[in-house]
Amino acid sequence: MGEELNLKILVEAFRKLELITSRTQMTMILVDLFRNTPPDVIDKVIYLIQGKLWPDWKGLPELGVGEKFLIKAIAKATHSRESEVENLYKRLGDLGKVAEELKRRAASAGGVGLAKFLGVTQPKKELTVEKVYETLTRVALATGEGSRDVKINLIAGLIADADPLEARYLVRLIEGRLRLGVGDATVMDALAIAYAGNQALRPVIERAYNIRADLGGIAKLLAEKGVDALKNIKPEVGIPIRPMLAERLNDPYEILSKVGGKALVEYKYDGERGQIHKKGDTVIIFSRRLENITHQYPDVVEMVRERVKSSEAIIEGEIVAIDPETGEMRPFQELMHRKRKHDIHEAVREYPVAVYLFDALYNEGEDLTLKPILERRKVLANIIDEGERFRIAQHIVTDDVDELEKFFLKAIEDGAEGVMVKAIHGNAIYQAGSRGWLWIKYKRDYKSEMTDTVDLVVVGAFAGKGKRAGRYGTLLLAAYDPDRDKFVTICKVGTGFTDADLEEMTNMFKDYIIPHKHPRVESIMKPDVWLVPNFVAEIIGAELTLSPIHTCCRDAVRKGVGISIRFPRFIRWRTDKGPEEATTTKEILEMYKRQLKKLEEKA
Ligand code: ATP
Repeated sequence: MGEELNLKILVEAFRKLELITSRTQMTMILVDLFRNTPPDVIDKVIYLIQGKLWPDWKGLPELGVGEKFLIKAIAKATHSRESEVENLYKRLGDLGKVAEELKRRAASAGGVGLAKFLGVTQPKKELTVEKVYETLTRVALATGEGSRDVKINLIAGLIADADPLEARYLVRLIEGRLRLGVGDATVMDALAIAYAGNQALRPVIERAYNIRADLGGIAKLLAEKGVDALKNIKPEVGIPIRPMLAERLNDPYEILSKVGGKALVEYKYDGERGQIHKKGDTVIIFSRRLENITHQYPDVVEMVRERVKSSEAIIEGEIVAIDPETGEMRPFQELMHRKRKHDIHEAVREYPVAVYLFDALYNEGEDLTLKPILERRKVLANIIDEGERFRIAQHIVTDDVDELEKFFLKAIEDGAEGVMVKAIHGNAIYQAGSRGWLWIKYKRDYKSEMTDTVDLVVVGAFAGKGKRAGRYGTLLLAAYDPDRDKFVTICKVGTGFTDADLEEMTNMFKDYIIPHKHPRVESIMKPDVWLVPNFVAEIIGAELTLSPIHTCCRDAVRKGVGISIRFPRFIRWRTDKGPEEATTTKEILEMYKRQLKKLEEKA
């Protein structure tokens, strides 16, 4: 086959993905698609499946053309009146379906859309993924005067050339509403099967992705250069590394023994994680979710230019709001002022920050992620020039529980959230993209049996009753099971929402509602509506209990029984977390076991 991929093949996969209800089927549809995809477009195919043009961290404009523009483009492409498009939209509630319907009508009337309208008679050329990608890129990047018409014309051109089904998905893509819920793990499973016939390749793909969080780029490397290219992959300045995450415990004895007796103990700062990339004078800062947040911290960029001596490096630290008068640490919420884009320089003055560095992942061409932490820290210390607001995290190395406790209390007193305890043995590498026991967070105890909040994914919603009639009243929440890439239900939550929260939900959820359970969701309960896993809510509860109606940790404690949260209460949305970053089943099980232990101790 040539080096082109017909749009029909991609769209057919979209159609199937929307219909199926099992994750295995989802993987197999992707395998099929990848096998049909020429190497040089596989990256684009992967971005498009996820409803994007490029990874979020590129910080480039997203698709997400407004309804008004789209209505104009559809009208133009299908030779219809705008009022006709609008009426149909009122009836069908989905502009994708509107475009599809109008294209069908045109086809049965013997028309070929814009081409005919313009008097162009040659037969319509089939749309390719390359052509679509290139056009959509122009749509996304068009700015300034006249860009409105440019966008409308480009979109109209595509719809004119599309067949009805293609039109449906093109419009959803352009609107930013292609929500198939295909996660990275499913894509990786499918890539492994497509390129090796089985899962043997999966860990290699995963490691490569953890080191360079660009799944499209990784797939392309695999397709074009083969497995060895992935095996030898190194971090690259400008492409984020997926962060290493910590487990949590609240017993200092247990913590120290878990990490092997002796540990590096650091303040756990309450700010925003920053993965700082530097190449010459160019500095990029990525967030915990790998978004490009450089524009929020021009002052940090300056500090990095001045104080990081290497010409190429990737380091990590916590960016913390500080009091402009005293230099003391301020709560994390103060950083929110930095999110306002307009008056960033004023925000920089009013809400100054300090950076507390805790890791070095790459330096002058060398991948440090596989080196033990103390070696990484040595590099960090060597390459930076510490200053008042740019320094290595407060730390001690200890094997003594009392010393750990004392340091913990001092951390709290200084405004930190607690401490991070890090293993220092020879295997204490930087586990990019995973949560493990090499790092353990030890936080202040909350006055509740459930010692910490959990972050859970909304997978369904129930209609409200009484005062909440006409809105959603209760949400069905799930934890994430990374081993199986499934969202498993843990509780229903109806408490803690403000009026504004409730009001907002209808609109927030609207585009994520699907007619059946999402293939990655496991649930016994049946909510009034199912949702594509996307929204993450922070929840606190009274305690964890066993429950026969929830699928979280089912069979883990007792056969046929799962774990649930008693008296859950909504605290806030975690918009900084994606569904795969929700609390995992493993963490829930650990929390449950710890709770049991405490109860036994009390008894
Ligand atoms: P997680 O990031 O583990 O999913 P979370 O978003 O709820 O959980 P926390 O439980 O507060 O965050 O703890 C982890 C975060 O703590 C890290 O992602 C990092 O931003 C921050 N942090 C603060 N100090 C340190 C430190 N010394 N070492 C590592 N991380 C630190």
